[in-house]
Amino acid sequence: MKKAICQKCNNIMRDKGESNYFCKCCDEYTPYEIKDVINFCDRCGEKVEVIKGCGSISFFCNNCNELRSKKKVETKYFDLNVKHSED
Ligand SMILES: [Zn+2]
Ligand SMILES: [Zn+2]
Repeated sequence: MKKAICQKCNNIMRDKGESNYFCKCCDEYTPYEIKDVINFCDRCGEKVEVIKGCGSISFFCNNCNELRSKKKVETKYFDLNVKHSED
């Protein structure tokens, strides 16, 4: 999942469309970096699946076979421009 990350506070920003990203935390349009956002299960450390419901997002761990709450999953950001030099 590609998301804009605020360079001031390191939080995920709101996509306002047309490459406009608003940081709810800073309450302004801040400089950002696009990163790959991956969520991991707090219990087993496996990647969790994002399940979009009506207006809400939840996470499902295939390994634990149960829903994990948004507050519990561990969210990590990965740089998109990391290249494997051996290619
Ligand atoms: Zn911010
Ligand atoms: Zn799990």
